[in-house]
Amino acid sequence: MPEPAAPALPVGELLALDRQHVWHPYGPMPGRQEPLVVESAAGVRLRLAEPAHGSRELIDGMSSWWSAVHGYNHPVLNEAAQAQLGRMSHVMFGGLTHEPAVRLAARLVEITPEGLEHVFLSDSGSVSVEVAVKMCLQYWRSVGRPEKRRLMTWRGGYHGDTWQPMAVCDPDGGMHELWSGALPRQLFADAPPDGFDAGTDPAYAAHLRDLVARHAHEVAAVIIEPVVQGAGGMRFHDPGYLRVLREACDEHDVLLILDEIATGFGRTGELFAADHAGITPDVMCVGKALTGGYLSMAATLCTPRVADGISRGEVPVLAHGPTFMANPLAAAVACASIDLLLSRDWRTEVKRIGTGLRDGLAAAAALPGVRDVRVLGAIGVVQLDHEVDVAAATRAAVREGVWVRPFRDLIYTMPPYVTEDEDVARICAAVCAAAREG
Ligand SMILES: *Cc1c(COP(=O)(O)O)cnc(C)c1O
Repeated sequence: MPEPAAPALPVGELLALDRQHVWHPYGPMPGRQEPLVVESAAGVRLRLAEPAHGSRELIDGMSSWWSAVHGYNHPVLNEAAQAQLGRMSHVMFGGLTHEPAVRLAARLVEITPEGLEHVFLSDSGSVSVEVAVKMCLQYWRSVGRPEKRRLMTWRGGYHGDTWQPMAVCDPDGGMHELWSGALPRQLFADAPPDGFDAGTDPAYAAHLRDLVARHAHEVAAVIIEPVVQGAGGMRFHDPGYLRVLREACDEHDVLLILDEIATGFGRTGELFAADHAGITPDVMCVGKALTGGYLSMAATLCTPRVADGISRGEVPVLAHGPTFMANPLAAAVACASIDLLLSRDWRTEVKRIGTGLRDGLAAAAALPGVRDVRVLGAIGVVQLDHEVDVAAATRAAVREGVWVRPFRDLIYTMPPYVTEDEDVARICAAVCAAAREG
C-alpha cells in the first residue's frame, strides 16, 4: 500500500472536531463512542491514522455496507473516475444527456431481469425507493384508480431512512418505531419464515395471497427485499415466496417492487436475488454496490407497463428530478464496476467466500450466547441471544485486525468479493472473537 501524505489534522484534534460537530449514522450528538480515523484504503484493507488495539490496518468485513465489492482503490475504477473527471464531473440532466448515463442505463436493462426496460437514476438508495413508490402510486392514479395508494410489505424489512421507505421498514424493533404515529400506515404481512432452503410453507403462502387479495382495492404495490432482509435483521427466506407474491400481484392487479439495493450485483450468489426465483418485478431498486462503493448512486428500473401507464395520465410525467440525477462521475464508475464484475468469475468468487464463511463461522455456533449462524452467498451472520455490546465486539474484532460493525443482536460480514481465503478466515476468527466478547 503506498504511504499516503500525512493528514493535515493531528488525530486528537480531528477527533475533537468530529465529536463537536459531526453526526454519525444512527448516533447521538455528541457521539458516545470514539470512531476510528481511516486515512486510506486499498484492496480489502482500511489503513488507520493511528493503531487501534494494536492494529494499524483492518481487513474490511463490511464492504462499507455492501458496496465496495471490488475492494478499495481499484486501478480499473480509479482509471474510470479519473478519465471522467477530465471530461466533466457533473452536468445537469434536465434537457441534457451524456454517455455515462446512457451506457449505464442500457447496461442495467441488459443484466437485470427480463422486462425491466426503463431506468431512473438517482443519488441514493432511499431516494430510489421514494421514486419506486411514486412510480407505482402515479401509475394507478394515471390509469384511473387513485384509491390504490397504500403499500404492502412483510415484517422484518428495511428500505431506507427517508419518509416512504421508513413507512415500510419493520414497525417493531426497527429504527423507526419512533415515528409510528406520523408515518403513513402501510399493510404488513408476517415476516417470511426463516431459511433459504426451507421450502415454501403453504400456510404462509396462503397468508400472503390472502392479504394481497383482501387489500388489492387499496394497495398500489407490494414492496419487499428479495431473499435477504438486510438491516431489518439479516434474515434469509425461500425464493419461492417471490413467485407466490408475483402470482398474487398479477392475479389481483397489484404492482411488485423488489428492493435489491443490498442484494444486487452478486451478493446472494445470483446477480440479482430475483434470479433465484426467475421472476421479474414491475419496479426494481438497485444501489449500494452499483458504483463498487466509490460514489453515491442508485437506480429505479421499471417495465413498459408502468412507464406507459404513467405517460397516459392527466399529468403524463414522473415529477422527480434530483439535482445530481445521473451524475456522470458516478455513472462512469458504475459502468466500469459492472464491467469489472462481469469480467471476473464473480459467481465462483462469491461461492468461495461463502464456503470460507461457512467453515470459519461454524465454531461460533458452539459459543455461549450464540443463537444462530447462517451463510448465504457472500454473507455471514452470527446472531446472539442478546443485544451486542457494540464497543466490546468492535474492540475484539479490531484486535484481530478486522473491521465489522454489529447491530442489535447481529454480528455479520459481507466481505469484498476479492477477499483472499486467508483474509476470509481472519474475518471469521474476528467475528467469533466479537461474538465471545460482545
Ligand atoms: C441500504 C438500503 C437502502 C437505503 O439505501 P441508502 O443508499 O442508504 O439510502 C434501502 N433498501 C435496502 C434494502 C438497503 O439495504
